Amino acid sequence: MFGEFIEALQAEGFDMSWQDFANCRGADPDLFFPERGASTRTAKGICRECTVLDECLEFAIVSSEKFGIWGAMSERERRRIRKERQVTAARRKAV
Ligand code: SF4
Repeated sequence: MFGEFIEALQAEGFDMSWQDFANCRGADPDLFFPERGASTRTAKGICRECTVLDECLEFAIVSSEKFGIWGAMSERERRRIRKERQVTAARRKAV
C-alpha cells in the first residue's frame, strides 16, 4: 500500500525498513484508504495479523498521517492517541 510515499520518506531519512514485513503488501490499497463511511474491518484484520503493527502505528502517529488505516487504527483513533500523549507530556511538564 505504500509505494512511492514510502520511497519519498526513506529519501528524507525515515527508517522504513519495517515495511518490508508489512502484512498489507499486495493487499488492495482501497481497503486501507476507504471512502468515507466504508468498512475498515478487513484492513484492521490484516493489520492485527501484522508483525510490524507497532512500528507502523508509531510511524503514523509521529508523522501525523492524515489518511488511511495504519497499525489497525483510523486517523480518528490515532488523533486520540496523539492528544493523550500531549496531555501526558503537559502534565509531566507541570510537575
Ligand atoms: S500494521 Fe497494517 S498498515 Fe501497517 S504495515 Fe501492518 S498490515 Fe500494513
